[in-house]
Amino acid sequence: MNRRYRKTIIAGNWKMNKTASETKAFADELKTMLPKAKWCDILVCVPFVNIAAAQKAFKDTRVAIGAENVSQFEKGAYTGEVSAAMLKDLGVKYVIIGHSERRQYWNDDDLIVNKKALAAVEAGLYPIICVGESLEQRELGVTKELIDLQVKTALAGIPAEKMRHVVIAYEPLWAIGTGKTATAEQANEVNEEIRTVIRKLYGARVARSVTILYGGSMNEKNAEELLAQPDIDGGLIGGASLVPEKFNAIINAANQE
Ligand code: PEP
Repeated sequence: MNRRYRKTIIAGNWKMNKTASETKAFADELKTMLPKAKWCDILVCVPFVNIAAAQKAFKDTRVAIGAENVSQFEKGAYTGEVSAAMLKDLGVKYVIIGHSERRQYWNDDDLIVNKKALAAVEAGLYPIICVGESLEQRELGVTKELIDLQVKTALAGIPAEKMRHVVIAYEPLWAIGTGKTATAEQANEVNEEIRTVIRKLYGARVARSVTILYGGSMNEKNAEELLAQPDIDGGLIGGASLVPEKFNAIINAANQE
């Protein structure tokens, strides 16, 4: 983390978990233990149908509510889709884009990720753009090239002045939901590479201000070590964000002065 230049964010990704009433129960429990989080922003990204319930449950707390996906289209005949304007109107600030599960099961490729990021930014949302390599790609030694391409494509057309709203999350596919975490050095190395790409595209001032998260089996045990790295500005957390004590422990790890 480097709080001098950029925000620290601890973001939960609930995926397709929890009903509205379970959301309320989670919030009631987390609220009893939340620290006075001065040093990090806290965010929980929930399924679309639970956004209103989550906003109500976390009202008057520092926990913001985000979405897990957004349509690349502005409006129209796209049955089942949710637009950036709809999310904005609900009071949503952050939206996850290009999560590996979206890339894998719904074919959200780099070009679609770019369209979604542009739609989000245009509507005034803050995209959390996920990038990451598979185990095969890491073993082939193409991680750097792949990440460069994913980041460059995702950011195409996003003007420099909007970059303060953009968050990138490095999520190696082999670490998501597997219990296998990238080592702090591996994760920091890729986050540093992402910052280098941003520097080349937008200059040093923008690059140092962008929050770059790590995600992939981050938990209450490894969070402190990962967050101690200079280019890891927070976490995108799946499994551990579903359990109040675990999520709270990660928030505490990020909330050190
Ligand atoms: C995620 O879904 O973004 C994620 C990192 O999941 P997990 O923490 O469960 O690996």
